[in-house]
Amino acid sequence: MKIIKSSDRMQALSKRLWGERITIGFVPTMGALHRGHLSLIERARKGNDVVVVSIFVNPTQFGPGEDYLRYPRTFEADKKICKSSGVDYVFVPDARDMYGQTHLTYVNVENMSDILCGKFRPGHFKGVATIVAKLFNIVMPTRAYFGSKDYQQLAIIKQMTKDLNFPVNIIACPTVRESSGLALSSRNRYLSPVEHARSAKIAQSLQLSSMLVKNKKFRDSKKIIDSMADIIKTIPGAVIDYICISDTETLQPVLHIKKDVLASIAVRVGKTRLIDNMILRLNKLRKNVSL
Ligand code: AMP
Repeated sequence: MKIIKSSDRMQALSKRLWGERITIGFVPTMGALHRGHLSLIERARKGNDVVVVSIFVNPTQFGPGEDYLRYPRTFEADKKICKSSGVDYVFVPDARDMYGQTHLTYVNVENMSDILCGKFRPGHFKGVATIVAKLFNIVMPTRAYFGSKDYQQLAIIKQMTKDLNFPVNIIACPTVRESSGLALSSRNRYLSPVEHARSAKIAQSLQLSSMLVKNKKFRDSKKIIDSMADIIKTIPGAVIDYICISDTETLQPVLHIKKDVLASIAVRVGKTRLIDNMILRLNKLRKNVSL
């Protein structure tokens, strides 16, 4: 496994790999790797000749007062995880290399970036889309792997890839959870043990919403949102940023559920902001199925 720090060297390597028709599986991360990241790496390992993992805590996706400075940086442990999971190259640029002093160009995916998390984190998805576009140009992946845990990010990246004609296949991977249901996240390490245990209710609220839709109890989004909020309100001190039922592609709010939808939630537990989501399936009997 090789560590590459310079974007020029990374791009030169990728050009050579393309010349040799070697496929590149790419997993962009901010480090502090856990089993969620590992699941992406394993998918990339199975589907490509080489695997590149990037580790970069991207300053442009953090707003003022957010956790950029205290975001966990665990490079030695990350390196070990990458090595033992068969990663070929770890790309770890620094902020000066990625943005220099004269960076003036940003990517903004309109309509999708200022709703849900974007409403509470202005500029966040502009930072995400910009860094991912830059990483695509540097790493030149054949396939890039993203977690459904960050569903809005995934949907925005899919849209950007289509709109800007990046020759990259975006592969969506399922959310990896703890046995309690809590979605794994690098930010979970901010939680105290008590907050950690209580945060499992976030996943429970999503499971409830899934059941309510599956069992045809509710088709009215507001009723589902209220039922989820009732669970979250039992977490002492939790503050709900949003609970939304949205279209799975455009992310626009859905008031009455007629097809599969996305339920997403962002909650602040103490000082930690947690997000999670689930696709709510209508579980309709499929037509034209011969028994
Ligand atoms: P991050 O390091 O948090 O920027 O995440 C890097 C990638 O890992 C993103 O595509 C995330 O969606 C994905 N990821 C983070 N947590 C999980 C999880 N629990 N399950 C699956 N993928 C995840």
